[in-house]
Parts: sequence; C-alpha cells; structure tokens
Amino acid sequence: MIDLRSDTVTKPSEEMRESAHTADVGDDVYGEDPTVNELETRAAELMGMEAALYVPTGTMGNQIAARVHTKRGQEILVERESHVFKWELGGLAQHAGLQVRTLDGGERGVPTPEQVTSGYVEEDAHRPGTGLLSLENTHNSKGGVAISPEKIDAAAEAAHEIGVPVHLDGARVCNAAVAHDVSPARFTENVDSVMFCLSKGLGAPVGSMLVGGEDFIARARRTRKLFGGGMRQVGLLAGPGLLALDNVSRLADDHENARILADGLADAGGLSVQRPETNIVLVNTEKAGLTADEFLTACEEMGVLGTQFDTHVARFCTHWDVSEEDVEVAAGNVRDAL
Ligand SMILES: *Cc1c(COP(=O)(O)O)cnc(C)c1O
Repeated sequence: MIDLRSDTVTKPSEEMRESAHTADVGDDVYGEDPTVNELETRAAELMGMEAALYVPTGTMGNQIAARVHTKRGQEILVERESHVFKWELGGLAQHAGLQVRTLDGGERGVPTPEQVTSGYVEEDAHRPGTGLLSLENTHNSKGGVAISPEKIDAAAEAAHEIGVPVHLDGARVCNAAVAHDVSPARFTENVDSVMFCLSKGLGAPVGSMLVGGEDFIARARRTRKLFGGGMRQVGLLAGPGLLALDNVSRLADDHENARILADGLADAGGLSVQRPETNIVLVNTEKAGLTADEFLTACEEMGVLGTQFDTHVARFCTHWDVSEEDVEVAAGNVRDAL
C-alpha cells in the first residue's frame, strides 16, 4: 500500500526512536523536563516569538488559543472552510463559549482586510463583540495552498486596527515557509499566536507547539492543565519533537513529490487535478463520472490510499514515508484504476 491519506501517517525514524530512549526527562507539570524545555525554547525561536508550549495535538493548541484570547460569549472570526471551524467538533463553542462568524476566504481561504473589518462586531447592549480572528496557513481544505506572508499581514493588521487579536492555525506553516522560501517566523510578524504540528510533515510521532508572547503562553499553560493536557516525563516524546524541528527544509521533497503525482494524474480519464503548492493534491472526480468514494475504492484496490474531502473531491498527501518512486507508482496505479 502507498499511503497518501495524510502526512500524519509517518512512522518515527530510527533516530527519533533512539532520542525517545535517551531523552533526559523530568516532571513537565513542574516545568522540570529539560527536553520539553529545550523543545519549547527552540520552537519559540523558529517562530520568532517569545515563548512556546508543548501540546499533545494541534487541535488542543488551537482550542487553548481560542480560549485564552477571548471571553466567553464573544464572537470569533474564522474562514468558512477552516480546520478550527470544520474539523474540531465545534470545540470553539464547547471549550471557549464562542459564537462563530465565518468569512468566505475564496479560492485560497484567506479573508481580505475588508472582510475582517466588516465581520467585526462591536460589543454593546445587544451584540457579543469580536474576540479573535483565526487564520490558517497552509489552508488544508483548499488543497494545502501556501498563503503569502503579505496576505496574512494584511488580514492581521485589519484585525489589530479594531483591537482584535489574531491566532494562526499553522499546522503546516512550515510547508508554507518552504513554498514561499521564507523563514516560518515571517508568517508570525503580525499575529499574536501560532500553532504548528510536529506530527505532520515534520515527522514526529506526537505533538504540536503553541507559540506566542510570554504572558499568553503562561495563561495557555494553565488552560492546557484545565483541558487535561498537563503531561509528566514527556521528554520521551519531546526528544523526537526536537529532531522534527530539523526537518523543515526536508518538506521541499514532499512538495516536489506532490508535483510529480499531480503531473502523473493530470491527463488521466476526466480527473481535474489542482496544481499543488505544497504536499497536498486535490483531485476532482466529477468529470470522470465517479464520486470521490468510488474513485478512492478503486485506488485502494490498486494499492493507493487517499481520503475523501467532498462528494467529488479526494485528497492525496505526500510525506516523509513516500519516495519519488512511490508517487510515480501511485500515479500509474491510479490511472490503471480509472
Ligand atoms: C491537522 C490539523 C490540525 C489539528 O492537528 P491534530 O494534531 O490532528 O489535532 C489543525 N489545523 C489544521 C489546518 C490541520 O491540518
């Protein structure tokens, strides 16, 4: 099987397994795990911000950020296809007591400054007030598009002008950095917090980082405990996480493999293939006369796994555990499947 369902399916490398074995550990709830402390320091540096917090999942990182930035009953501005809105079980309502206002970020999933300004609600006797703007880069549902730093800056500046803080769901922000040939920190210059995943293209078995200012992270640490995410000798996981931070430039290989896959599928029996900007390839199956489900079943019979994104949209995702040869074989097999 060539598993292109997600960049989360990678197995930890030998080096990562070894680092789990040898990591220096302590009780991280007491702040005494040296490996976690090092990981948090290095993650903050990578993102060009003051402090960072190790969290078990990206979802928890986003949910903590929403809770810490806002007051219950406020509104949060999110893009209508964003992960925080679509794929986190309505957690914004459950964990932070927020009402969601969606903005249509168009083909690339990024709201314009005008949309941010007009989506703002001022608190008064009848209206809840806007507490946070959340952006996403790369945008998963739009096909891993790498939004430019300027577009992120523009939306964030519009929010700041009306006194609204900004969180960046940067689960794959390192992919965006590689695609734009800038440092990941370039995307955080105008945001108040960012979450990024160690467990996707960077290849760690577990974990994400929530990064921001010192005060924000101090409050986030309390909220992580509240959510049941205070962990003990978790240096065993932070060790592989540290190695994951060295994998940023390796993401270029995944992007190249996604292009090879997309090229290999481009003229295949009625498929419309979106040109990948990072490691995600979206395939529309409608003109091939198939639902995404039927298409993926045929692919699976030919040894290729993907995921369904919509009735006629399937997603393939390249990652550390698939080679250039694998994606070439996958493209051939998908064509045969059709
Ligand atoms: C994967 C992902 C998350 C959540 O990360 P988990 O570790 O799976 O909880 C959040 N946002 C985006 C854009 C993602 O792709």
